[in-house]
Amino acid sequence: MELGGIHHVTAVTANASENVAFYTRTLGLRLVKKTVNQDDTSAYHLFYADELGRPGTDMTFFDWSFAGRNRPGAGQVSTTAFRVPGRETLEWWKARLDSEDVSYGEVFERNGQAVLPFTDPEGQRLELVDDTTEDEGSGVPPGVPWKHSPVDRERGIRGLEGVTLALNRLEPTATVLTEQMGFRKVEEHTENGHRTATYEVGPGGPGTVVRLVERPDLRIHRTVGAGGVHHVAFRVPDDEAHDAWRAKLAEAGLGVTPVIDRFYFRSIYFREPGGVLFEIATDGPGFTADEDPERLGENLSLPPFLEPRRTQIEAGLEPINPAGAARA
Ligand code: ZN
Repeated sequence: MELGGIHHVTAVTANASENVAFYTRTLGLRLVKKTVNQDDTSAYHLFYADELGRPGTDMTFFDWSFAGRNRPGAGQVSTTAFRVPGRETLEWWKARLDSEDVSYGEVFERNGQAVLPFTDPEGQRLELVDDTTEDEGSGVPPGVPWKHSPVDRERGIRGLEGVTLALNRLEPTATVLTEQMGFRKVEEHTENGHRTATYEVGPGGPGTVVRLVERPDLRIHRTVGAGGVHHVAFRVPDDEAHDAWRAKLAEAGLGVTPVIDRFYFRSIYFREPGGVLFEIATDGPGFTADEDPERLGENLSLPPFLEPRRTQIEAGLEPINPAGAARA
């Protein structure tokens, strides 16, 4: 019983139009689903991913217009990394980010991979990582950028590479990763004076990476603001594996929720001891469950249990207008 890597990362925006403009126009991801937060239907839930929204390729956002700017702290996902093919592709992206007025840092090497750090318009910390140093054919297969993306297909983002967690102490989280969740420690080093350790799960390599950074200097912030990450989800292939994972985590005393049907996948949640909210989600049924693959994300999708309230829900949502969004 192994986790298959990262399923998705869910973050917070306070500006849906600007968010759609950035993730689809600047980064070239496909808006594969426009739906609502099932626990707060006054908020959009926006999913950006590869051409079909394959598990492991999506970054999603809750649109909370009232949210203040996120305060970086411990107990948070501090950085989300996307995978792109090739070192020279990072140079191509630097030019693209320049032309889009997006701020980015210097390309640096981490465990033999080139990394380009940048931020979204709300300060969300992101990275592009060259995933071609891994053996071809091993690990999580990359996603496929959408053919109508404004970014060249061969340069496009092809999924999530990994996440970095900022923690007061590494050990409690590391123990849950390795003892309960099947992660393997890859390496540990000191970066900018902070202990940093890398873990992989399942097939290993891009799409399965969790980095831990020890930050005893940061306060724990559990209220996630705009530009912050709400949770990270990991993959299981089917309902049977999902149920088995739920039983295992419950037995370990991790306070896991019951199975929640998100319609596009099924979810369980628990907070790891460092304070980060983890989810385990099924690979299916996926985003083509209620829309034609050619038309994904064009209209507001509601799961069947919310469909009877469509008129009321639509009336409570601000229209999204990426064309009118201020440039980053
Ligand atoms: Zn989620």
